Parts: sequence; structure tokens; C-alpha cells
Amino acid sequence: MPPAAGPAGGTGAQYADRPWLDPDAAPFIRIQGVSKRFGAFTAVGSVDLDIYRGELFSLLGGSGCGKTTLLRMLAGFEIPSGGSITIDGADMTDVPAYRRPVNMMFQSYALFPHMNVESNVAYGLKRDGVAKAEIAKRVGDILEMVELRQFGKRKPHQLSGGQRQRVALARALVKQPKVLLLDEPLGALDKRLREQTQFELMKIQDQLGITFIVVTHDQEEAMTLSTRIAVMDAGNIIQVGEPSEVYERPKTRKIANFIGTINTFEGNIAAGGKGGWHLACPRVREPLRAPKDADIKDGQKALLAIRPEKITMSKSKPGDDKLQSLRGEVLELAYMGNLSIYRVRVDGGQVVQVTAPNLQRIDRNKIDWEDRVYLSWRPENSLILRD
Ligand code: ATP
Repeated sequence: MPPAAGPAGGTGAQYADRPWLDPDAAPFIRIQGVSKRFGAFTAVGSVDLDIYRGELFSLLGGSGCGKTTLLRMLAGFEIPSGGSITIDGADMTDVPAYRRPVNMMFQSYALFPHMNVESNVAYGLKRDGVAKAEIAKRVGDILEMVELRQFGKRKPHQLSGGQRQRVALARALVKQPKVLLLDEPLGALDKRLREQTQFELMKIQDQLGITFIVVTHDQEEAMTLSTRIAVMDAGNIIQVGEPSEVYERPKTRKIANFIGTINTFEGNIAAGGKGGWHLACPRVREPLRAPKDADIKDGQKALLAIRPEKITMSKSKPGDDKLQSLRGEVLELAYMGNLSIYRVRVDGGQVVQVTAPNLQRIDRNKIDWEDRVYLSWRPENSLILRD
């Protein structure tokens, strides 16, 4: 990724890979108060978002939350009802789609079935009147990059799904846009191919340094690909952050559940020993220790959350008294190959999900259905969430 240039022309070297942390870095794309209404229906509320040069930024959210509409407004296919979009310092309000420094790769790829790979990729350049020799060179270079050079003479139906996806990517990239917008780019691929293609996409993006904005409803895909993720819900952005931040520090229960799985305990805060706070949860016999950094008050209702992989399960009592420890009984277990998922009913009635890696092929101390177990975790790994 190229270093971000600040407004004064300097480069924040220590922020080279994470310009969003640099208070002096100028965003490459600035979305301010952008909304979109279709008649009486608000598809996008009022979105403010800064995206930096060279980012691989994901818009993540459930069906109908407004991701594609926001992407289409960036492309110029939809006119915002309000607000402004600036790309590389230029206001896009009156700039038509074909004159914007962006290109869009559609979910369906929209390849021309009667044209071979080379002609599909060359199409936009031909239309723009680029010289023949220049077209040949640029098409050759980009096909090399997406590793499709030997397939140049094939028609789309003679390619696999993953190869078709790469043709569409080559066609979008050959015009050297400053920004590439990708709507569910890997949606048509099966799981294995999708994982492989995610890495190819990241590699290509890194080589070219083009800013990518990806729309996806797949949280794993967003986590793998992105420099940052904006989580959308009902037309609004509800959290923006690096993947680890959104996963480890989700702001609300909804975000926490959308990105992975999380156990939540509802109850009231009370003062615990040693100046810490506890959560008294009616469905858990023991008081639950709140993390030290939590912003909470005595008596307040609260939601304490812990990810399943942060919980350790054992048959014997954990020795460390700094740990939160609960007793319970294994209700269900699912073997997933690399890990197992357990559902444990803790004393008091709440069911807690735990995931544990399967480290040994044959595990004689294996925990089974109906076993009495201890669940333990470090209180600092739990979170207090907003509902
Ligand atoms: P998905 O993941 O299902 O594609 P999305 O988050 O991309 O969803 P959008 O396509 O942006 O969602 O649509 C947001 C909302 O706006 C939806 O409720 C949709 O029905 C509505 N909508 C989109 N385009 C139009 C339109 N042209 N006229 C009326 N409503 C529309």
C-alpha cells in the first residue's frame, strides 16, 4: 500500500499501513451526510465515511441494509438524496458515472458470452479509443497478473467460476481506475474457491495499490480481506474499524452476533471484591466479573459478553483465582474436524457455547455429553456491550 500523504504533503511513516490512525492523513474518498430515499423509503440514512488510498474497505451487512445502494452512489449509478461524495479531492456531485475515476465489478460479472477472454478485457479500452498496440500490451499485462494469459482465446462458458471471476476483475482493472467497487465479488464461487480467490484478490490489490471497496454479507470474507470494515444496518453505519477491532470490540450485541458468535449474560451491576464490578445474572449462579475497563455504574442493567473461543473447559477446577469460573453440564457437542463446539448448561440455567481446537487425534481426556465441567475465562477477555 502506498504511504498516505498528509494535507501538508508529508508522509506519516509510522501510519503507512494504517492511514486512518494518522490525524494528518487526508482521506481519498470522503462521504459526508450521504442519504438515499426511494419514494418514502430510506435505503441509506445519513452516512459519513472516510476511506484512504490503497485500502481494501468492506461494507458488511445483512440483506437490504443499503450496501449496494451506497456503492452505486459512489459509482454514480444512483444520485444521492442528500450529502456529498468527494474522490481524490474532487466533488462527484455533478460528475456522471462514466467520468468518475471508479470502476465497478458486478455480482453477475456481466461478461459478454460471445467474446473471448481477451476481447472481454479489451472492450472498455477499445470503446475509449485507446491505440491497438497499447490495448494489446495492457490486456496482456493484466491477464498475466490474474494468471489467465493462456486462456485468452477461450469464451466465458469454457472457464470455471473462479476463472470467470478473474476475467471480470481483469476487465475492471485494465482501465486503471483509482477506485474499484466490487459487489459481492466472490458470491458465485463455492467455499473452497472463495477462500483461495480471497487471497488472490488481496495480492492483486496490494500489487496495484488501487483502493478497493467491497460489498459483502459474508463476515468471514470481510474479516479476511479488509483493511477496515463498515458494518451497516438499516441504512446506517453502526461501526467502522479494523477486522480485529470489530471482532474484539463490537459496540453492540447486534454487531457482536453478526460478526461471529458471542455468549451474552444479562443482569445488574453490583460492586464486587477488590474494587471491581460484578454482574448478577439471574441465570448464572455465580456473580460474573466485569472487565476492569468497562464503563459501568452500580445497579445499572448490563450485558456481559464472551466469545466461545475465549472460554476454557476442563473437568478439574482451574487453579488460577483471577479467572472467572462457572460449573455446568455438557448438553451437546459437535465435532467439526479442526475444532469442536460444545453447548454447556451452567448452574443457574444459562446455556453457554464453547469452542475448543481438537489438538490431539485421540484424546483420552475428551469431554463428552453429560460431563460436569468447569468453564473459565479471563475477565479482561469479556466485554460489556450496548444492547
Ligand atoms: P443485498 O445484500 O440483499 O444485496 P443490500 O444491503 O445491498 O442488500 P440494497 O440493494 O442497497 O441492499 O437495498 C437497500 C434497500 O433499498 C432494500 O430494502 C431495497 O429493497 C431498497 N431499494 C434498492 N433499490 C431500490 C429502488 N430502485 N427502488 C426502491 N427500493 C429500492
